[in-house]
Amino acid sequence: MIDAHSSEHGMASVSKPLFGKISHVDCSKIAHPWSATCGNGFLYMWWSSFIGSAKFLVLIYVAQYLMKRKKFTIEHIKETLLHYFRESLFGACMGSTFVTSMCFFRNSLQRFSYYFLALFPAFVGGIAIFLVDSSRRGFSTTTFQYLALEAMYKYLQRIGIVTNSSLTETLGFMACSSCLLYMLRAGHHLNLRTLMWFFTPPSVKLQTTTDSSPCPHEGECRSYIVSSSLKYFGLGFTLQMVRNIVKDPRQLILHPTSLFSCLLSLDTYLLGIFTGGYALSYKLINCFLCQWLGKDSPLYAIPAGFIAGSFYAVQPNLPIVLIALANLLKVTSQYLTCIGVIPNYPWEELSFMVCSGLLFHVRTMHPQICPKQAIRLMSTMTGTRADDIYTAFKKNIDIVRFL
Ligand SMILES: [Zn+2]
Ligand SMILES: [Zn+2]
Repeated sequence: MIDAHSSEHGMASVSKPLFGKISHVDCSKIAHPWSATCGNGFLYMWWSSFIGSAKFLVLIYVAQYLMKRKKFTIEHIKETLLHYFRESLFGACMGSTFVTSMCFFRNSLQRFSYYFLALFPAFVGGIAIFLVDSSRRGFSTTTFQYLALEAMYKYLQRIGIVTNSSLTETLGFMACSSCLLYMLRAGHHLNLRTLMWFFTPPSVKLQTTTDSSPCPHEGECRSYIVSSSLKYFGLGFTLQMVRNIVKDPRQLILHPTSLFSCLLSLDTYLLGIFTGGYALSYKLINCFLCQWLGKDSPLYAIPAGFIAGSFYAVQPNLPIVLIALANLLKVTSQYLTCIGVIPNYPWEELSFMVCSGLLFHVRTMHPQICPKQAIRLMSTMTGTRADDIYTAFKKNIDIVRFL
């Protein structure tokens, strides 16, 4: 309903001249429509974002726990609770800093200005990422990066530079996968904890004289390849099943037999075929090259990752390409920092701030290219106050649009 409505009315871009017509509006009319004073605007945003983020993070923490399955010790529970609190605080501070920066720029510039409405305030708000423990920043940064990349991709589509074809996407994924796996194998210095990627290749084996096999794994090649491909197939299959159940839990409770039709449908297996086939072809090629050339090398990841990437065609899904690209940019910047080509700045955090600014700007000024998931994320993490701001903004724009 909301989407149908917004595609009818709200999807047009807001140009600078149009925006100029509402620049005189008071900050309480856009930045904090829920309260007349800036102070209350800040407090309400802080609290809603704290609660909204805390609720959202419960799901993320449960999912992450299921994937890692660490043992529950008192130490671990304490540490997890501390991380959880810090990340909820991050949501609260990011939302409230965003609102207060809007007020600050509105009142110091005497008017709203195009780039100081959302772009710059959200950039400033992004500084809250430093509240999150450095080992846990990867999740937020990668999410924002891939959403920003999606917005850019949609923009390039709109101006006709790229066309929407699954061949382009598949080739793009193959290239990203090839470079990413090479970087992961070549770099020993990389901080893999901040990575958000389903497949990590085994590290390169150093040749020893006592060992006869040149492969980076224990035991025989065939059984290793089969067992690890099955493991990755299982991962993809489980994820898809969880997705199906979460999508419509009532249907499964009322009609338990629908589980069978779900198991009989090919769609349920596609994600597993992608993850399993990816692992299978990567490992097959790597083992083949190891055996043929008699030693292991990170260079094998280039053809192996490229061919493995072709399994993307089984289930084309743009976010996967963009997440691969975000990870590639991350490891490349880590590598370039490590070898001293670029200065040691907090690139990851800076890119989070830039992506945050970009996404909030796109949401207000070019809603038609804003990823739906970004809108949902903003809404959940601010306890729907981001929607209140957008609705207030749109109301002001709609009044002057046809004047
Ligand atoms: Zn204000
Ligand atoms: Zn092998």
